[in-house]
Amino acid sequence: MGERDSHEGPSKGDAKFDIQKVADGVHVAVAAPAYKVNCNTAIIESDDGVVIVDTHSKPSAARLIVQELRGLTAKPVRYVVNTHFHWDHWHGNEVYPAAYPNAEIITNQITREAMATKGLKRIQDHIRQGPGEIAQIKANLATAGSGERRAQLADDLKHAEAYHAEVKALKPALPTMAFDRTMKLYRRDREIHLLYLGRAHTEGDVFVYLPKEKVVITGDAVIGWTPFMGDGYPADWATTLDRLAELDFTHMIMGHGEVAGRDWLRTFRGYVHDMVEAVRAEVMRGATLEEAQRRVPEALAPTYEKPFSAYGVYRPWRAGLLLNIERTYAMVS
Ligand SMILES: [Zn+2]
Repeated sequence: MGERDSHEGPSKGDAKFDIQKVADGVHVAVAAPAYKVNCNTAIIESDDGVVIVDTHSKPSAARLIVQELRGLTAKPVRYVVNTHFHWDHWHGNEVYPAAYPNAEIITNQITREAMATKGLKRIQDHIRQGPGEIAQIKANLATAGSGERRAQLADDLKHAEAYHAEVKALKPALPTMAFDRTMKLYRRDREIHLLYLGRAHTEGDVFVYLPKEKVVITGDAVIGWTPFMGDGYPADWATTLDRLAELDFTHMIMGHGEVAGRDWLRTFRGYVHDMVEAVRAEVMRGATLEEAQRRVPEALAPTYEKPFSAYGVYRPWRAGLLLNIERTYAMVS
């Protein structure tokens, strides 16, 4: 979905994007699978400048977007929005104020707080974990023989080393502006609404809504495959998505995956709701986590396994589901 530009997608190191037009002046850079996952970026052009939503897992990926941007428009980036505090959505922030001195970084108060505490701590975790990760790949490489697996590991090693160097040199750029519930940017040619609709993927998910273009940018509250719930609020999630469904839109730019429509929101919301209710029922009858992890997938598979397997081995449904059940079990019991 979404009109596709026909040029080759830009790539550099671990980052590769497919830039697609979603509406007039609204583009998405859809991230290809990467060793260190990159999020999608939304690019919204207005009369006086550009709004960027989310900045990937590393500055080099954001720099690739800046490079592409110069081909799309001569206008400067004025605002960068972060949808939530996860590393793969804001580690590239520093690139924008460096390239565009007047750029402001915006999120809501809850997410800024999460970035300043959990986000900064996670950067330190990544720096600490890097050498072990690199050593592990080298050990695997030593016994890998030849062929495809060896090539894959050699590639992983290159990306792991590059990421380690980047994360050590990171100059974390926290948001320079924060709002409470809602912020609206009134540009001459469009409105851009930044909304808090309740807890879902994190405690502070920001949705970006373009009412005239009927486009919504969801961060990871909706993605193209099984959601990550490790920092999420499964029991609140479906209600937050019901508020999202009340908005008048036709296109969703999600945190990960291709541009989707309202049908995917219905499927995704159904999965979250049904999974939570099934786990709740297991908890009520006194089931252990292991029992819930055996029975809930059997109950959900007929409806959800196929739609949530669209990205195949890259994002296996069942592995994600088992983690979702674990998080939900812990949160409702
Ligand atoms: Zn996330």
